[in-house]
Amino acid sequence: MRNRMIAGNWKMNKTYTEGVVLAQGLAKELADGTGDVDVVVCPPTVDLKGVAEVIKQEGAPFSLGAQNVYWEESGAFTGETAPGMLTNIGATYCIIGHSERRGYFGESDEDINKKAKALMAHDIVPISCCGEPLEVREDGKHVEFVVDQIKKDTEGLEISDPSKYVVAYEPIWAIGTGKTATADDAQEVCGAIRKTLAEIFGQETADGIRVLYGGSAKPENVAGFLEKEDVDGALVGGASLKADSFAAMVKAAM
Ligand code: PEP
Repeated sequence: MRNRMIAGNWKMNKTYTEGVVLAQGLAKELADGTGDVDVVVCPPTVDLKGVAEVIKQEGAPFSLGAQNVYWEESGAFTGETAPGMLTNIGATYCIIGHSERRGYFGESDEDINKKAKALMAHDIVPISCCGEPLEVREDGKHVEFVVDQIKKDTEGLEISDPSKYVVAYEPIWAIGTGKTATADDAQEVCGAIRKTLAEIFGQETADGIRVLYGGSAKPENVAGFLEKEDVDGALVGGASLKADSFAAMVKAAM
């Protein structure tokens, strides 16, 4: 049985002060709890401490996630953040392999694989993103493209607790564009992801791994995705920047 998950990716939005206000607003919106839905908030690195304090002070029913990590433990890697630093500040999740990191910062599947291993060694749950660009979708090669990413991103991983590894399928053409995939599009690829995970890790493990959909998900459309067998939740960008819309998505998942 997989708990649904709604994760918010604030991207490079919200100053420290604004982030605290948003986290407080979300704590208020979700004051009655989130049932069986796991909720994760992923602010920019400089906001992590402020949001961690809100979670602690308000007893907020959501977990803290980072948006990126480097795989080394410490050292001369200017501008980077080590997994132990995330743990120390209270982060228990971390997004890796987001298409913006792959596209603008040249991250490869090999990098993403190293990040996943480093996070898991620190008991931080990776939310590992995959997804095809528009031209691949138009060529009808989207399933094989994503399956190839999954194989490379998970190479050599040991998953003893499937609730501690999350995949997010985010077709690049649907991110921040207002253009959503249909629920059937999402199911086609999320189903193929689970099948691939089963080939790699065994069916029981694959059945416990959450596979999220991301790409212009919002309160009005999230329920349609969640009805699909292999879609276990959503990774949300734009609609996570307002407490009421993000909370509405959590409530739709409950
Ligand atoms: C994302 O960047 O992870 C995302 C899904 O963004 P949006 O919801 O804004 O499309």
